[in-house]
Amino acid sequence: MDSPQRDPDCIFCKIVAGEIPATKVLEDDQVLAFMDIGPVAQGHVLLIPKHHYERIDEMPPARAGAVLSQLPAIVAAAGLATGAAGVNVLQNNGRIAGQLVPHVHFHIIPRLPGGAFRFNWPAGEYPEGRMDELAGLIRQNIEKEAKTK
Ligand code: 5GP
Ligand code: ZN
Repeated sequence: MDSPQRDPDCIFCKIVAGEIPATKVLEDDQVLAFMDIGPVAQGHVLLIPKHHYERIDEMPPARAGAVLSQLPAIVAAAGLATGAAGVNVLQNNGRIAGQLVPHVHFHIIPRLPGGAFRFNWPAGEYPEGRMDELAGLIRQNIEKEAKTK
């Protein structure tokens, strides 16, 4: 791989460079996975691209693909290692979405009975026409994005 683009102030770039320690579970030329230092569940793993991108929407699709290609193995392994029958994959973009570390990362969170990790999932509904309106805008913006990448 070309040497990772990095942000000198980024803690995950420092982990990639070996400048601060991490307990690694998987590494290839483009990605790294390591144990979360503040686990919300036993076996909580973080999967990151070696290149510094703050948010997933900034990533070239091929680089995002390289990260996602490792996801099935890590999800399976974290589940097997902990005996969890289910695993959540969570990826936060932006402060309002809960992102504290500004380097793209996927949380792999095994779910065991009695675990403290919870979702608030306030399923709602759309007023007449709003879902189609938003879907149209999302389709338009996907096309626009595809042209920029
Ligand atoms: P975020 O809130 O940005 O989605 O999640 C950041 C995650 O990174 C948190 O779960 C936090 O525990 C983890 N984290 C922050 N600093 C370090 C670190 O230095 N080493 C490791 N292994 N994990 C970290
Ligand atoms: Zn970084």
